[in-house]
Amino acid sequence: MKKIVIAIDGFSSSGKSTMAKDLAKEIGYTYIDTGAMYRAVTLYCIQNKLIENGRIDEKTVQDSLSDIRITFQLNKDTGRPDACLNGINVEKEIRSMEVAGWVSLVAALGFVRRELVSKQQEMGKAKGVVMDGRDIGTVVFPDAELKIFVTASPEVRARRRVEELIAKGVDASYQEVLENVKKRDHIDSTREESPLRQAEDALVLDNSHISIPDQKKWLLEQYYRVINE
Ligand code: C5P
Repeated sequence: MKKIVIAIDGFSSSGKSTMAKDLAKEIGYTYIDTGAMYRAVTLYCIQNKLIENGRIDEKTVQDSLSDIRITFQLNKDTGRPDACLNGINVEKEIRSMEVAGWVSLVAALGFVRRELVSKQQEMGKAKGVVMDGRDIGTVVFPDAELKIFVTASPEVRARRRVEELIAKGVDASYQEVLENVKKRDHIDSTREESPLRQAEDALVLDNSHISIPDQKKWLLEQYYRVINE
């Protein structure tokens, strides 16, 4: 059967990763969470004191990029890939509010984007991947055969994120998460380097009021439509 690249882009906490992971599992594709890669670089910066006193030491971050190795390891309990930073599983640490507070600024650095985009292109070159992020359909794989742009209201997204964090044992308040979601939307959409925007040929999915099973059904229909074309 023909293998394709599925690009799922959209706003923070729009449920992209849940739909991307479920779809990948269902069709036997590899799921790649590009947000986790930007989060892992941010965690490296925090751990190595490259973010201090409210600023990023850009020069040292750039010099350190070759020391940052990001890989994914299948978690047998969840059936989903966990992010590893230099061989250490950091899936929980990269979801902290501290990382969330800095990640969009780290992801706005051109040299960080160029490095991670080239890694992502390498990971997807054999196709058979579902990749979720902000610039997959526009920059990483502009020729992806299926592009989905996911959105939902900031309030719906913040509520989902709080539930997700609590389930993972991370402390979070709705107000704090809502502010973070809005702040990241703003930084992600207005940055100079590959801002978050809908690819012209992407299908838009506003999932504010759609159940997860309905969303999954819709997505599978899109997948079968494209591979049977
Ligand atoms: O998807 P997630 O919310 O985990 O992504 C964290 C952050 O990483 C986003 O807010 C965005 O700033 C950045 N990101 C990006 N490009 C991607 C994926 C994520 O800039 N492809």
